[in-house]
Amino acid sequence: MNIKRMISLILSVSALLCFVSCSGEPAATEPATDDTATTTTEEPTTTEEETTEAVTTEEITTEAPDTTPDTVYAGLESGIVRDGTPRKYFCLCFDDTTQQDLKIIEMCKKYNYYDVTFFISTGLYGADWSSFVGVPHVRFTKKEIQSGIYDGFDLAIHTYRHMALDQQTEKTVISEVKTDQKNIYKLTGIYPVVMAWPGGDPNINRNLMKIVYENTTVGLGRGTTSTHKFDLPKELLWLQPTAEISEATLVSDFQRFLDAECTEDMLFFCWGHGYELDIYNSYDKLENFIKMVAEAEGIERVTVSEFYQLFKDQIPSYIEEN
Ligand SMILES: [Zn+2]
Repeated sequence: MNIKRMISLILSVSALLCFVSCSGEPAATEPATDDTATTTTEEPTTTEEETTEAVTTEEITTEAPDTTPDTVYAGLESGIVRDGTPRKYFCLCFDDTTQQDLKIIEMCKKYNYYDVTFFISTGLYGADWSSFVGVPHVRFTKKEIQSGIYDGFDLAIHTYRHMALDQQTEKTVISEVKTDQKNIYKLTGIYPVVMAWPGGDPNINRNLMKIVYENTTVGLGRGTTSTHKFDLPKELLWLQPTAEISEATLVSDFQRFLDAECTEDMLFFCWGHGYELDIYNSYDKLENFIKMVAEAEGIERVTVSEFYQLFKDQIPSYIEEN
């Protein structure tokens, strides 16, 4: 097998695993499978009883979280003033709040890098999808989250139960977003306004974007298709990342970003999952990348919430098509 073929195979397995993890139904039902699955077709072994315990029983709501004049909105503390000077913005985020995030947080703290976003599904506290994914895939419990694991970092919406939203009613879509938003606000005291779509791009469509745009205060939704480009998104509810942490081109993409001439605002948006570090045994690789990012000069490291607050007046969340 030549190198190109090998890299391509690794990337397709990576993409598949991202899809599998991000596309699962709530743990109470069978996670979605993919016809092309080669390594992760195993049926989940969790029983109804176990998964009932894992899923919280908090009230599902379509109401917006209550706010007061003192409500703190996420992302307003970047300290960056957009004064017309073109800048290179960098975002790093991780989905699913699995236990591997502890290692990631340790790495970030080591390099004093706190501008990192973690996307949580607050309806899946403690859910264990390990048998389905093939490596440890255990989400933190509510108690663990409350112990302050993510303190100092940006915690944002990944929807309440991580369902395939394109198969849900409009009411459920709205409640999946708002219930998660409300729970995060209750947890942190900070009102989140950005999300990562659950299930990967095959589960997202313009109708879902419109529903979120018209019925919630969430203004940014991240997808899962790497662009390897540094352009700003055209619509914030369809923000596609530059790169994924397990891609072979991650460091070279980032080096291109550093070397690029900055004549207008640029964005390098990187995302991933903690459990990938176990799939690829890539803890050292990620730490090297985090160090590289944390020590890089000439870039603005911002959380996803901060990026949203900085650009929400310039970039529309959703554009109605005629
Ligand atoms: Zn996910």
